[in-house]
Formats: sequence, C-alpha cells, structure tokens
Amino acid sequence: MGLTRLYLRALRLRCPACGGGPAFVSWFRMCPNCPGCGLHFDREPEGGYWVGSYSLNLFATELAFAVGFVGALVLTWPDPPWRALVWWNLALMIAFPMVFFPWSKTLFIAIDLTFRPREPDDYRQPEEPAGRVGGRRP
Ligand SMILES: [Zn+2]
Repeated sequence: MGLTRLYLRALRLRCPACGGGPAFVSWFRMCPNCPGCGLHFDREPEGGYWVGSYSLNLFATELAFAVGFVGALVLTWPDPPWRALVWWNLALMIAFPMVFFPWSKTLFIAIDLTFRPREPDDYRQPEEPAGRVGGRRP
C-alpha cells in the first residue's frame, strides 16, 4: 500500500486503508467500522487508541498558533496589533481543534497503519453484548 495514497485518503476523510466511506456519521462522530472494508477504526479494543489523535490535534493546533503568530509578527513588525493578535489567536485556539477534529482521527489511523500494518483482528466484529441475548421473536 502506497503511503501517499494512505494519507490522501485520510485527508479526504475516507478510510485510509481502502478509501471507502463515509468514515463519519457526523463531524464529531466516527463510524465504528469502515463501510467499505470493515476495518475497525478503534484498533485498540482495551481503549486509549484515540489518545494519539487527540495528541495530533493538539500538535496541529499549536503549529497553527505558532505559524499564525510568528507570521503576523513578521508581517506587521515593528508595530504589531497586539490586541487583535490576542483575540484572533483566542478564536483560533477554540475553533481550530473542532474544525481539525475529523482529520486528526483519519490522519492518526493513517500514521498508525504506516507503523502497524493491518491484522485479522482489525476486521473482527465485536461480540454481542451479554445483556442483549434472548430478544423476543414473533
Ligand atoms: Zn476501509
């Protein structure tokens, strides 16, 4: 699998493994499995898998702040508009993580697939919860 293709699929908010989708039910809610290939997006059943995507989102937000702040300073030096910079960056720090949220997830899956290729367990369906056995049938 080409790495470029993996990341281009992630940037399109599709499944990085197969390009299938949609990978999201809503902006903030990812499908549990890929509708195309069945890849279980949360690849760590014990939990904690998405800490990587949260970290990626944090790094991207800090990078956006640094690039925007330094860029504004360079462009407006020697008289930077400090008050406007404070308000702009405050708005950016609130909005950027929400806007970038779905990409943080798909890009993290792409990074994870780069270093930890797919395994049969990634496609195994979760077992039926114990409390739902024995539903009434007509
Ligand atoms: Zn897929």
